[in-house]
Amino acid sequence: MSERVVLALGGNAILQPEQKGTYEEQKENIEKACNRIVELVKAGYQVIVTHGNGPQVGQILLQNELTQPEIPSMPLWVCTAESQGMIGSIMQEALKNEINRHQLDKNVSAVLSLTEVDANDPAFESPTKPVGAFYSKEEADKLAEEKGWVMMEDAGRGYRRAVASPKPKRILGLESVKTLLDNNTVVISAGGGGIPVVRDEQNNLQGISAVIDKDLSALELSKEVEADVLMILTDVSNVFINYGKENQQKLETISLAEAEKYYDDGHFSAGSMGPKMKAAIDFAKNGKKAIICSLEEAKEALTGKTGTTISGTI
Ligand code: ADP
Ligand code: MG
Repeated sequence: MSERVVLALGGNAILQPEQKGTYEEQKENIEKACNRIVELVKAGYQVIVTHGNGPQVGQILLQNELTQPEIPSMPLWVCTAESQGMIGSIMQEALKNEINRHQLDKNVSAVLSLTEVDANDPAFESPTKPVGAFYSKEEADKLAEEKGWVMMEDAGRGYRRAVASPKPKRILGLESVKTLLDNNTVVISAGGGGIPVVRDEQNNLQGISAVIDKDLSALELSKEVEADVLMILTDVSNVFINYGKENQQKLETISLAEAEKYYDDGHFSAGSMGPKMKAAIDFAKNGKKAIICSLEEAKEALTGKTGTTISGTI
């Protein structure tokens, strides 16, 4: 059996901070990423791709707010679905073209994914993630009153809506994803952490305004599809301890115990490397391997030549 690998692509792989976010820019970035991904497909790995959506869902939200009242706005979870469709379709095209160039016999499917979260998740009590447009204090107060939005000041640039970032409980529809994987298909799934839904007393699902951390949903995805490897692809070659300091030191292959110690010692920032290391540690606990590396070095990192590997067996 070929090894099953979940690839979690960071936001930078799709849109760099200095870029505007045109279709052409995103298509070019996605094509570059897909060329790397197909190297793994060619090497015989079963590949599932998941990805961030921060800048994309941000722009969709802004579009929604700027076209008011002409066009009815969609709730945040529908915007997330739109971003999955947008990124997923461009990615599907790019993967298929690269697969054809290599004359590989593989299908590609992008699957819209709902991610169930707990309605009682404590994150809903104190929303922390700023999303969408910036508003003045007066506008912010009006929106809080009219729409019940929680508003927060963001980086001194004005007020924005704040939403919760609850923990993913379960990604729905993964039985179908597994069937696709078993049937010669590269699958794109759980983009942007998934479309957040909660379950009511009658067992009905309902979308909810929240954003889910893509590294934590990549962990859920990896566990549920029984992946052999979780690979988090980002914009640094390795995880470092004392990152950004004179004595910074790159981590290569480390044990679970070492990873946990560095995590507890606070070496990984909360909004960036923290969730990646948390996901990697949790995944490695099942005696498996988690890798954090740059997109460019994905293939080499899979064989331990580069990147940071957290091994659950040493
Ligand atoms: P992504 O879009 O891939 O999720 P993030 O910006 O969230 O990317 O996380 C990657 C960033 O984490 C790196 O660019 C780096 O600046 C930062 N980072 C924080 N702590 C560390 C660390 N200990 N080692 C390496 N990178 C770190
Ligand atoms: Mg991130």
